[in-house]
Amino acid sequence: MKDLSELKSLLAAPKRVAIVMHFKPDADALGSSLGLAGFLKKKGHQVEVVSPSDFPEFLSWMKGSENVTALSKKSNEPFAKASKIFAEADIIFCLDFSSLGRIKELGEEVKKSGAVKVMVDHHLEPEDFADFRKWDVTAASTAQLVFEFIEEIGEKNLIDSSIADCLYAGLMTDTGSFRHNNTTAREFRVAQEVVALGANPSEVARLVYDTNSLSRLRLIGFALSQRLTVLPEFCVAYIALSQEDLKKLDAQTGDTEGLVNYGLSIKGVQMAVLMYDRGEEIKISFRSLGAFSVNDFARKHFEGGGHSNAAGGSSKQNLKQTLEKFLSLLPEYKERLINN
Ligand code: 5GP
Ligand code: MN
Repeated sequence: MKDLSELKSLLAAPKRVAIVMHFKPDADALGSSLGLAGFLKKKGHQVEVVSPSDFPEFLSWMKGSENVTALSKKSNEPFAKASKIFAEADIIFCLDFSSLGRIKELGEEVKKSGAVKVMVDHHLEPEDFADFRKWDVTAASTAQLVFEFIEEIGEKNLIDSSIADCLYAGLMTDTGSFRHNNTTAREFRVAQEVVALGANPSEVARLVYDTNSLSRLRLIGFALSQRLTVLPEFCVAYIALSQEDLKKLDAQTGDTEGLVNYGLSIKGVQMAVLMYDRGEEIKISFRSLGAFSVNDFARKHFEGGGHSNAAGGSSKQNLKQTLEKFLSLLPEYKERLINN
């Protein structure tokens, strides 16, 4: 592992930089990527941002989002473009993920590129693929790591209001609007800094949280009234949405974001789960309170991971089988859940 100061020297002259974020990026993945991209462009680098999938419409206000090369199921063209970007890059920044599986088929393209690889991330148990690492699990967001990196290299003055808004969005959402237990003085300090540099907290919050479509609200209503189950004996709540449910309610990318938190808001619930059928796989979100680690649970049983209290995973079985598997695991965890 190289020292980050070497990266600073590397960035002293114009480079071709690629930035890639995880599949189905959230506000932290996209915000940290576009924030870093904005900064590096101002420094005179040639920057391309790549997403392994589409991203939610409620993030399309972020400056630079219109130029993201986002892979699509409909066309092979963005994949070909992304492969070229990685092959030609001098430096590849990997943001908000630390295992190449999280960028799906792009993992191979990144691996085979001769570019210098930089990981900026806050997820548990990282893989060893990067030359440089700005990796810190105690950070609530990747966006703040990007800010701290810019600050460390002494170029905070290049952060303008568009960059600051992107970074603020990552910080705001990954702390659950400064409510989760990852919210510390450090997060508030970075928030204070980016707001001083031009981020607009109320506008970012409005754009991210209060631009729902009616169909998204109906989806939430449906999920809560028809698909939420509480198992008090295990202190667990779960929501399972079929492809039919999603189709019927016209669900779009990002519409399920935050849905899992409703389960965890129920008094007495220690672990909440959302599973939904994406067609090619079942996507699962896990949330927990206190010492119960959903990172361990997701990693062990559902090929996933993340953070101790917020993790994700997937299953190649169908929804019914995935739910049955999940339910069959609960007795093993009962003691830990009810004594949590
Ligand atoms: P979410 O449930 O909101 O999709 O994700 C919760 C946290 O777990 C996020 O930090 C996210 O990056 C991470 N995560 C989500 N899905 C996966 C996955 O399939 N594998 C791993 N390793 N982490 C995931
Ligand atoms: Mn994050």
